[in-house]
Amino acid sequence: MQLAHRLGQAMARGQRVWLFLDYDGTLAEFAPTPDVVLPNPQVIDLLRSLARLAELRITILSGRRLAHIRQLVPVAGIALSGTYGIEMITREGQAVDLLDYDSQRPVLDRIRPQWAALIEGRQGFYLEDKGWTLAIHARRAEPHEGEHVLAEARKVIQRAAPPDTFRLEEGYRFIEIAPTLADKGQAIAMLLERYAWPGAKPVYIGDDDKDEPAFAMINRHGGVSILVSNEERPTQAGYRLPDPAQVHRWLRTVLESYRQAGSAAAG
Ligand SMILES: [Mg+2]
Repeated sequence: MQLAHRLGQAMARGQRVWLFLDYDGTLAEFAPTPDVVLPNPQVIDLLRSLARLAELRITILSGRRLAHIRQLVPVAGIALSGTYGIEMITREGQAVDLLDYDSQRPVLDRIRPQWAALIEGRQGFYLEDKGWTLAIHARRAEPHEGEHVLAEARKVIQRAAPPDTFRLEEGYRFIEIAPTLADKGQAIAMLLERYAWPGAKPVYIGDDDKDEPAFAMINRHGGVSILVSNEERPTQAGYRLPDPAQVHRWLRTVLESYRQAGSAAAG
């Protein structure tokens, strides 16, 4: 909470803060399957209040596709970035893609039917098509079968995807193929440069492996990086909050500190 208070005071002194927020596991608890889009009224209210602060700029940076994020965060004045930053809507509502979709998609169109055939008739697998990326989730599969299928899925990628433009992401019973440029660290670097906001302190809050490159990039720019995790673990982040409820509380404290300092300055 001290950090929130400090940030609130800094903003009140005119210090600009650029707040980058992951969505799933950070602002909201995980959805039952990744394709579920359930807008959270509490999150929307909070972001709406924060978006009104003149010294605060907000960017949502998620691995989800942009179309989902738009449904989840229907808030004016906030930049939304999907697919780890390669598709974006600016605060003014302008759509910006970092890559040409039509040049990327044919690779995924080759992989998708092969992956679909791999998991067909098997229990506990889920093929997620995010447009720019493809993933297989095997969390609910029988472990041995899960390993086997993911190994086969990896072989498909090796045959079908050029290694310089696509990369393989692997997590716990999870495999994903994504454009190399789909990376939250690169996205942050690009945003800070392209939409430079002089004097602003960047802050990043995120909860998983995909957020680590963002933490590193934020640190490199003298910012504040915050991991959302209920336990200590190796991370590049400088601070930790246990869960999305505490992130909300933290953001409300930032909002309050700013409002108080603002009214004190006005009085
Ligand atoms: Mg997350």
